[in-house]
Amino acid sequence: MKNKASDNLQDLQYFGEYGGVNPSISDSSTYTFLSAKTMFDTFEGNTEGCYLYTRHSSPSNLYLGEALAALEGTETANVTASGMGAISAVIMQLCDSDDHIVSSRTIYGGTYAFMKNFLKKFNIKTSFVDITKVESVEKAITSKTKMIYCESVSNPLLEIADLEALSKLAKKHGIPLVVDNTFSPLSISPAKLGAEIVIHSLTKFINGTSDCVAGVVCSTTDFCLGLKDVNNGAGMLLGSTLDSLRAASILKNMRTLHIRMKKHSENAQYLAQNFEKDGLRVVYPGLKSHPGHETIKRLMNHEYGYGGLLTIDVGSLENANALMELMQKKKLGYLAVSLGFYKTLFSAPGTSTSSEIPLEEQEEMGLTDGLIRFSIGLDNDIHRTYEIMKECMFELNILNSKASAL
Ligand SMILES: *Cc1c(COP(=O)(O)O)cnc(C)c1O
Repeated sequence: MKNKASDNLQDLQYFGEYGGVNPSISDSSTYTFLSAKTMFDTFEGNTEGCYLYTRHSSPSNLYLGEALAALEGTETANVTASGMGAISAVIMQLCDSDDHIVSSRTIYGGTYAFMKNFLKKFNIKTSFVDITKVESVEKAITSKTKMIYCESVSNPLLEIADLEALSKLAKKHGIPLVVDNTFSPLSISPAKLGAEIVIHSLTKFINGTSDCVAGVVCSTTDFCLGLKDVNNGAGMLLGSTLDSLRAASILKNMRTLHIRMKKHSENAQYLAQNFEKDGLRVVYPGLKSHPGHETIKRLMNHEYGYGGLLTIDVGSLENANALMELMQKKKLGYLAVSLGFYKTLFSAPGTSTSSEIPLEEQEEMGLTDGLIRFSIGLDNDIHRTYEIMKECMFELNILNSKASAL
């Protein structure tokens, strides 16, 4: 499948006030009107191209939004102050009290906690299902279901959602498919596969410098205007607005996203293949052994590879902790949550990012104690990284010399 997203992004030109090669940063919370009538119309949502108040929109946020819409191939996009700011606003916009959500059970811990705990306040219930079984997704849909929710590549188990099949199912039932595409920007284009709403935590790959949190909702003009509605828009009223200065810096970082994604994928593929050969239990969508390998091959834009995330199960939490500490000491990366940084980041999801999920449910979904999630960095010489990682594993007896003979 040919993906034009990079070309569309590259062709987007914004100039600064004095012809600068970057757009000027909007440095105001409020905007003047020449006529009182225009101000009234803007409040009523009738005036295109007028800025009212920065919680509603700002030029810098609109520039970044348009770039993200070009990335995902949607009509438009609203940027938010965090990924959770995007997710919570979309859910609150689509659901009334007593409504129902069908969601993948392997999703970001914060999203899981929001659905399972926070939405109780509104008696909104979520059925958590195995997203790779489309028939069980359909079975969970009721007359009160307002959306099917999933991640293209799930956190932290890297399950692949068949977005083509799920969007067909959603259309059949007249509900939107909402996809969190944080793990796979450029490599998967959910809107082209039929998703109506695409969300990102910009905090991760898209910004790529681990210096801020931000999010986005990419969708139709109707839905995005609805989110911004001054009378009942969840984006406008819950108030998770991105600061204009940050929007400007994220836009500049986005300009190198295609190069970074290719390198993250190339490095992760190399490590996954080699550690699998060494006899370790590796989960990576680019491996033939991955249960979703054929699905992602069918859905993806091949030039960007299978992404930068992989997991290795090293048998026990003790092993995982010792290995992560040793790898950090050897400067292979940082023991830290999050992803998409130039440096490799690793964490044990059971005790960190997925700790919101009760232990017995973690077991059911295959989230074991010894699992380490890696966000592979932009290392120039990945073979050298592999050799040093292997030394760490020998030192801790995670790999034995028998495996090294392979
Ligand atoms: C990090 C993350 C989020 C939450 O984003 P924030 O920017 O931290 O609010 C949501 N979904 C996924 C898949 C994530 O990795």
